[in-house]
Amino acid sequence: MAVPKRRTSKTVKNKRRTHYKLQVPGMTTCENCGDIKLSHRICKSCGHYKGKEVVGE
Ligand SMILES: [Zn+2]
Repeated sequence: MAVPKRRTSKTVKNKRRTHYKLQVPGMTTCENCGDIKLSHRICKSCGHYKGKEVVGE
């Protein structure tokens, strides 16, 4: 089996990891309050979904 000849440096490792996603897939921002929310779910912060308020305060 092929084995790496050199240990991957911190710089190379960190540069590779800049491409890692910062957010979990399936997360979008709420068009009402701008918070991060799960897509196809109502917003937890303001209770809006598709521009309408679904959950009253
Ligand atoms: Zn919201």
